[in-house]
Amino acid sequence: MAEYSALSLLRNAFSGNRDWKPAWRKPDPKPAYDVIIVGGGGHGLSTAYYLAAEHGISNVAVIERGWLGQGNIGRNTTIVRSNYLLPESVRFYEHSMKLWENLSHELNYNVMFSQRGVLNLAHTPSQMDDYARRGNAMRLNGADAELLSREEVARKVPGLDVSASARFPIVGGLLQPRAGTARHDAVAWGFARGADRRGVDIIENCEVTGFLRDGDRITGVRTTRGEIRARKTAVAVAGMTGHVMKLAGIDKLPIESHVLQAFVSESLKPFVDTVVTFGSGHLYMSQSDKGGLVFGGDIDGYNTYAQRGNLPIVEDVMSEMVAMFPGLARVRLLRSWGGIMDMSMDGSPIITTGPLPGMYLNCGWCYGGFKATPASGWAFAYTIARDQPHAINAAYTLDRFKRGILIDEKGQGSTPRLH
Ligand SMILES: Cc1cc2nc3c(=O)[nH]c(=O)nc-3n(C[C@H](O)[C@H](O)[C@H](O)COP(=O)(O)OP(=O)(O)OC[C@H]3O[C@@H](n4cnc5c(N)ncnc54)[C@H](O)[C@@H]3O)c2cc1C
Repeated sequence: MAEYSALSLLRNAFSGNRDWKPAWRKPDPKPAYDVIIVGGGGHGLSTAYYLAAEHGISNVAVIERGWLGQGNIGRNTTIVRSNYLLPESVRFYEHSMKLWENLSHELNYNVMFSQRGVLNLAHTPSQMDDYARRGNAMRLNGADAELLSREEVARKVPGLDVSASARFPIVGGLLQPRAGTARHDAVAWGFARGADRRGVDIIENCEVTGFLRDGDRITGVRTTRGEIRARKTAVAVAGMTGHVMKLAGIDKLPIESHVLQAFVSESLKPFVDTVVTFGSGHLYMSQSDKGGLVFGGDIDGYNTYAQRGNLPIVEDVMSEMVAMFPGLARVRLLRSWGGIMDMSMDGSPIITTGPLPGMYLNCGWCYGGFKATPASGWAFAYTIARDQPHAINAAYTLDRFKRGILIDEKGQGSTPRLH
């Protein structure tokens, strides 16, 4: 497997880029593995990578029903941040941030992590108080945060309507300077290549259609390419969690599947060099390296497995965008798409052993699983290898919903569309 370096780029440029090797193999499934990971999205691939890299477990198969990058890992708006209030959340996402900061180097793959900052706008004095509290909590837990005045916001993002007559006047904002964006599909490809070169089999176009059992114990999977046995079977299928877990007989989970849309505008000259979020509704926006504005808002709000949304949310998102940036009213939309979100009931994830013997579960990522990709795989790999959670995911249990110890970051209760 070729190393990527300036020299190899140059050599391949001179030979017409004809000699690049595939970034990962296309193996046939073996009859048995130590670990099977169902789902070749960002979380499944990073789990496989860290199992091999951190725990020396490389007799692993990642089973993906489609091709790498076609799920949410390739559909998100690429925002990476750790600007959370609750200690369980900041600690986990800050661990992820640290992994992001070294990820291109670790994988020898440019994931284009760009620490351009994430700015949350505040529209009322009480929201500023709330942001001051969140910023303090972040700093206490090792993350970075800066409270900005209206004037500082105006200087940082010149296109914003900061006038007093704006529909939602801006009074300031909370900035996390180390937050930013990354190239989402490069993250999938980088983890895939890193796992493959350590011996992991990535098996694409292979759908898990059932589980093999010995009594209660899960002993492998039934797939469209035959049965595959494993000592340990891990599930990381994001929006398809309910469906896949039902194949194992688990038909009640605190997860709902919802569609979330994303939008890209036509290319513009450099317009905004940070990520901005609207505080009186739900809108987040950044500008890609190609110049398109990349943005999104709320989930559509009904349960579905369809990867496309509807017009009310399109209208909602566009109106919030124009309220924030009136100068964008005539910019044309280039494309939009949807992805299926695994919305948990408190807005926080689940990374756990079980719920059946021989099984491990990773889900509940809501809108925010892209930024978690490195830490989720890191913590899930630890949980699978050691049969117990690491301290950073010890709170992300499944039974917290039964025991009433929710990690309800927003204090919105069990209403997915509010998280
Ligand atoms: C529009 C949109 C915008 C988003 N924006 C952000 C953002 O800005 N920041 C952020 O942090 N997060 C964001 N997210 C959320 C983030 O993308 C997800 O939480 C995260 O990608 C989910 O984990 P994953 O990458 O493993 O999922 P996926 O890539 O969906 O991986 C799951 C995989 O499981 C496979 N699978 C399903 N069923 C089976 C089966 N039976 N057999 C085999 N394989 C199966 C699927 O094909 C899929 O490839 C966004 C999501 C969307 C849709």
